Amino acid sequence: MLFFDGHCDVLWKMWMNSEKYIFYEEENPSLDVTYDRLRQGRVYFQTFAIFVPDHVPKLQKLDAALKQIDYFYEQVLDEGKRIKLVTDQEDLLPESPQPRLALLSLEGADALQGELAYLRLFYHLGVRQVGLTWNYANEVADGIGEKRGGGLTEFGHQFVQEMKRLGMVLDVSHLSVRGFWDVIEHYDLPTIASHSNCQAICSHERNLSDNQILALIAKKGLMGITFVPSFVHEMENEARIDHILKHIEHICSLGGEDIICFGSDFDGIDHKIPNLEHAGQVGYLVEALSRYYPEHLIQKWTWENGYSFYKKHLPAKNR
Ligand SMILES: [Zn+2]
Repeated sequence: MLFFDGHCDVLWKMWMNSEKYIFYEEENPSLDVTYDRLRQGRVYFQTFAIFVPDHVPKLQKLDAALKQIDYFYEQVLDEGKRIKLVTDQEDLLPESPQPRLALLSLEGADALQGELAYLRLFYHLGVRQVGLTWNYANEVADGIGEKRGGGLTEFGHQFVQEMKRLGMVLDVSHLSVRGFWDVIEHYDLPTIASHSNCQAICSHERNLSDNQILALIAKKGLMGITFVPSFVHEMENEARIDHILKHIEHICSLGGEDIICFGSDFDGIDHKIPNLEHAGQVGYLVEALSRYYPEHLIQKWTWENGYSFYKKHLPAKNR
């Protein structure tokens, strides 16, 4: 069974310390997501987030984001062509992907400094998805941790319109509740929550309410169930693989079996769920799923839903 992972933070780690964090390291991997571990876990589609931490001074954020893109081109794409950057629909054909597929996604528009020109340039560099915010406010919108809870700014509306014109996917994970509804109510563009779980199962603010999940279902969006222990279970130290299944069961009860995929957040988290500690271990999750669900559903959640979403929504070549 092939696996799709809608979120990891490898590029951020490489940007912090490119000597320590090596994507093709086989002996003693220091990353959760290495080539070898993708192979072990049969992960054939991996989204790589470009994440600039909040403490980076405003004017250095663009530099940090560009360097992460450079690490992707220089150190993840290799001469053996074992990984291929996905930018167009055509990159997702034929059905059984070989080499492994990679998508670039900007996590938080802060790095773009309120410039649509920078958004377009990131598009030209191969970025096809943008999460509007991390946890706090930026030029585009408020994040979920911003107490005032604002939605899209005036510029944010222009920004989303430009994303739509370019044919980009919008990620609502980390976005404020108001921002989420601004996007849903005003825009018709492909929408994913790349790494968020269900509030009804675990009440973390980064998780989605039932109404938000229903809106994603109505939009035919995508929701990446994440492995962050505190998003999986109220008692984060007790989070286990079986608790992840409760989120899946809940989304299904809302009619959402077609929007479920996974967004591990590997390399973005220190605490892990036992036996789900790196990309090489996703097989244990598949095993747990197979105790309860028929193969065609597991196939959808581990692969088809994610894969067909991008096959449908990425721009056509030479458009
Ligand atoms: Zn995140």
